[in-house]
This record gives sequence, structure tokens and C-alpha cells, in this order.
Amino acid sequence: MTDSRLPRKPMNQTPALIVFTDLDGTLLDHDSYSHGPAEPALDRLRAAQIPVILASSKTAAEIAPLRATLGFSDCPAIVENGAGLLPAGADDIEGDDYVRLRAALEEIPNTLRTLFTGFGDMTADQIAQDTSLPLRDAANAGKRKFSEPGRWHGTDDQIAAFLDHLSTHSITARQGGRYLTLSFGQTKADQMQTILARYNSPKSIALGDAPNDIEMLETADHGVIIHNPHRAPLPPLAGEDKGRIQRTKLSGPAGWNAAMQQLLSDHGID
Ligand SMILES: [Mg+2]
Repeated sequence: MTDSRLPRKPMNQTPALIVFTDLDGTLLDHDSYSHGPAEPALDRLRAAQIPVILASSKTAAEIAPLRATLGFSDCPAIVENGAGLLPAGADDIEGDDYVRLRAALEEIPNTLRTLFTGFGDMTADQIAQDTSLPLRDAANAGKRKFSEPGRWHGTDDQIAAFLDHLSTHSITARQGGRYLTLSFGQTKADQMQTILARYNSPKSIALGDAPNDIEMLETADHGVIIHNPHRAPLPPLAGEDKGRIQRTKLSGPAGWNAAMQQLLSDHGID
């Protein structure tokens, strides 16, 4: 699948819809990282020239090749949980948040610091083992510019003390599908507003499975919570009782496909 098959509408033309989607546990299967079951819906989106904005905890180095495979390199992407924006067509971005994050971690007392194993504490081999990613993808996952995901090994009390130390540096933490991710607090929804404005604010659909997707799901005109049997379900979200946000029965890309096909038909898109 290449990007050259279809000339997408220039940005000054408002698309019929815009889609913002999380990756792990949403468009990609939690275990296999495959997007295969979502292909029928992705085909319809490509044919209708609807921008699909990948919005993930992944790095620019991870997202750029995936975005090309999916055929959406002419769309910007939201990287590292909203801490960065990968422009359309770019392979990477610069940023120094990560260096500041790692410096703040090193100031934390050792008894707490050792309870957090960040990607920066692991070799590419260890990241591969922990994420089940192939080694090359794991190496790209370690190329961080804005945020630090990691495993927490302590208690709730200890995490409160750990986060207290980080808060003096304006660092906050979010629990994603798999990792506790530290950053300077920008969310996927913050970047979503910037991108919506660039596309002249078309109707938006957002899909996600985890707490770090909640703002994005609540900001979109239509939110889709993708079932994830590997984690506790999200609490009821604002707009869910009115039907603005729905939940899928199927998990991962199969749930993504079913919900998207229905929404496209509801919007009169072939
Ligand atoms: Mg997810």
C-alpha cells in the first residue's frame, strides 16, 4: 500500500470527516500489533480521502513507517501521547523534553527511582522483550524525544511519592494500555485541536481503548471506545449516555473496522 495511489485533497479543502485513532489495542491488535482486520474500513477511508490521524504513545521513529504502510503519510500524526506532532511527510522531529525528563528522574531518591523501569533504563533487546516488538521496532520505540514510558513495580503509596517528586519539575504521569508514561502534560486532545483547525474543523471521529484516550474521545463529534479484554473498562464518559460515544463488542482492529464501517455509512460515505 503506498501513498501515491490517491491524491488527497489539499488542506484548504475541508474533508467530509477526520479520524483520530489510537494505535495499540485500538487500530493495532494488543498482542500481534496487526491492523489487518481494519483493512476494509481503512480502504473506504482512503477511497473517500478522509484524513486518518494516528495518535499514539509511540515515537515519531515508530509512527512514520507505520503511517506510510497505512497510506496516510500526507496527514500529520500525534506522537508520544500528544507531547509531539509529526508533520505530514516528515520522518522525525526534534525536541529536548526527554533529556529534561531523564534528568528529573535521576534526582529522585533511589528507593523510589528503582521502582520505575523506563525505556531509557532498558537496552533495545530488553524493550523488545518487554513489548514483544521485533528488535528494529523496539529500537525505534527507544528513540524518545518528549516522554518516558515504563513499568511501575511499587505500591500505590509509593507511586504517589514518586509522582510528587516529578511534579516539582511539572512532570505528570498517565497510565496507558501497558505503561506508565511520564511527560510534561500535553495530551492527544491538545494536538487534536491544532490539527482540526488546520483542516477547517470537519466532523471528527476518535477511537481509543485506554485512559490516555479519554480527552480525545470526549473532544470528537463521535467517540468509539474499543473493547480491550486486557484491561479494566473505561468509566462512563461524557456524552456516552447521549450516544455520542459508543463502545465496541469486538476488540482491537476488528472492533475498529466494525465501528468505522457503520459510522461511514451513517455519514453517507461509500
Ligand atoms: Mg491503546
